[in-house]
Amino acid sequence: MTETANNENNETSKLSNRKTSPVGRMCKSSRGFQQGHPYFESTHDETTETQHSSVWMPRLDREHFSRVVQETSGGLLTVPDADGISGSSKILRPRPNRGLTLTESYLQPDENRGLSSEMRLLNVEKNAQMWNECYVEHAEQNMCPSPQFQIYQEQQVGLCWKESLKCVNCDYHSPMYKLYSEIETGRCGQRAATTNVALHIGLQDTTTGTTKFRHILTAMDTPPPSHTGLQRTANKVASLTAQATMDDLRMRRQRSKETNTLRGLPEDAPINISVDVRYNSTNLKNTYSCGGQNASQAVGTAFSWQTDQREIIAFQLDNKLCKLGSSLRSKGLNVTCPAHIGCTANVPATEPLSEYKIGKHIGESLARDDVAIKYVATDGDALASRGIQDAKPAGMQTQRQSDTTHLSQTQFRHIMKASFPAMMFPGENAARRTENRRLFAEDVKTRCQMVYTSVHMLHNSDETAIARRMPDVIQATLNCYSGSCASCRRHAIVCRGGRRNWWHTSLHLKACGLTRVNMTDSDRSTLQGLIEMRLGHVALHMTRRRLTTNPNESANRAFSASLPKNVKFSRNALGRVCSVIDRLNYGAGESMLRKLENVQCPITKGGKVARAVKRMQQDVMYQRSYARQPAVRQHRRATKSQRMKDYFEAKQHRSTLDVYRKRQLDRTPASQTVTAATATSVRTVRRRRRHAPPPPNDTEHSYSLRSRKSADHPYASKL
Ligand SMILES: [Zn+2]
Ligand SMILES: [Zn+2]
Ligand SMILES: [Zn+2]
Repeated sequence: MTETANNENNETSKLSNRKTSPVGRMCKSSRGFQQGHPYFESTHDETTETQHSSVWMPRLDREHFSRVVQETSGGLLTVPDADGISGSSKILRPRPNRGLTLTESYLQPDENRGLSSEMRLLNVEKNAQMWNECYVEHAEQNMCPSPQFQIYQEQQVGLCWKESLKCVNCDYHSPMYKLYSEIETGRCGQRAATTNVALHIGLQDTTTGTTKFRHILTAMDTPPPSHTGLQRTANKVASLTAQATMDDLRMRRQRSKETNTLRGLPEDAPINISVDVRYNSTNLKNTYSCGGQNASQAVGTAFSWQTDQREIIAFQLDNKLCKLGSSLRSKGLNVTCPAHIGCTANVPATEPLSEYKIGKHIGESLARDDVAIKYVATDGDALASRGIQDAKPAGMQTQRQSDTTHLSQTQFRHIMKASFPAMMFPGENAARRTENRRLFAEDVKTRCQMVYTSVHMLHNSDETAIARRMPDVIQATLNCYSGSCASCRRHAIVCRGGRRNWWHTSLHLKACGLTRVNMTDSDRSTLQGLIEMRLGHVALHMTRRRLTTNPNESANRAFSASLPKNVKFSRNALGRVCSVIDRLNYGAGESMLRKLENVQCPITKGGKVARAVKRMQQDVMYQRSYARQPAVRQHRRATKSQRMKDYFEAKQHRSTLDVYRKRQLDRTPASQTVTAATATSVRTVRRRRRHAPPPPNDTEHSYSLRSRKSADHPYASKL
């Protein structure tokens, strides 16, 4: 309806639009009204047509009404355009919708299909038994020559069904048959169907909760169980799984002592562990309020490094969420979490989640089983190791070891922030120089890790021998980066000099176009400090046991399958955490069978399901060993190298306009905005200052002060 006013027709078209167009302002009287405010610029587009008379519209149904009418925050109903200005329509209150919605239309049965085409989950054996028994019973009771059976009654029990049959040719109907197997409890009353319980063992290992599971079932034309029923069973299964897993971890801690005995060591000989904590938040800091923690749940895991089999031997879940508490509070009851009965939280909502406390809990559970800890590998973030130390498992002195992966990442960040001059790295502009700096940082990081691994293998992790050798290695590495590989063959370990030196073999240097680094003596000493972050005396001491938190990181990724960071499982978080721990310790197939046995719902032996579970377990074990094979690692490195080459090649031809940069279109505050004009004025002021005459000498200065009219000036007497 909007018409662009242009050239000489501008005024005339506007006038004519006012008379003819149906859209515009609703209640403006033309008498005495001047368009636009004298002081404020009108928000209404000049070209928008104006309508002075409003028109009654036919009465709309609810669907059309909600599409046309918008309600303002004050409760006023408007029919606005894109500028928020009302059109000329006068709208009557809505009438009910005429037709059925799509979901309503599906409530009417289809004459051709009938209800019986829905899917049901039935026990095949029990189903056949029902039909056979009914057939015999029917034959015994009636003289009906040709029985025609149909479902007479059915009752849903979660996923399962009780059904009875009837004959359409006579008045026969059977009793109800349970078409599912039940859990033997040894008590009277209704017993749970195995399928309903086993379902939650499966769901625990997925991101799917009860709501989405009902979604899946309805999509499969299968009647979904009630939400409440599903939730109630999920809670029971979660607590059973949690208990079983905690018992299993206790058994594993006892087994570690047995391993010591079998190795000819004292039973309480200390072991090494790695500890890390995972928070259920993608960004730890709360961006909205006072900058506190954003996470509401944290799970810490302790991996044993006693054998080559990495196993979780202890864990701690800190949970701030309590659905019961929050619902009671919303009803006005004064309850405090975690002090009330049935509370799922174990940390008050106002308290920050602390890795120290998580570490202490882990330490205490290890101490209860008399497992002594010598070294704890953690990242550099928090104090889990001190927590374990304070719990004093079996009175041992526990020492922290740095995680090598996190140490490398810290080294990388420090190289990026180091005070290297801009021209140290080649490049035609600042962006290219920063990119080269990044490549260099990545290279130093990788090289230090390679040196660290090689030197440990060469000297069989002998700390003294490694410490004696390392100064020469660092000097050779610095020479190599300066462009001289003379000492490389003897000392550098990873560079052999000659034509195939480090510059040629590294993934990040020549392969990505970085051919030299211009280092002065001071840059060299800065770089030496950065290399010593990883290979210096202190760093080597802190990483002498070669422990990493890599198993913990991989467990953290596995937790995301059961506890996704964007879904809050307030009540069953513990069950889900335990389910993941069991899966990691035993493998997917074996863990599932154990968990099913624990809730008395084992799968059928010798069937297709058993074969599928076997296959699942095999796949997991194969994947684990496959990733560790040297050939696979080599292939992964080569792929990474190729990807980097492709990236830098493509980057040369790419437009810089459509690059994603955070907040690039948002305005900065006026005080921080440096426009071209302000930059010029700053330059001018600086130039004037440079060429300004020297400041007045003391005599002139004192003269000017003395010449002031007020005699009691504080400086007057001194001068
Ligand atoms: Zn019959
Ligand atoms: Zn509570
Ligand atoms: Zn070299």
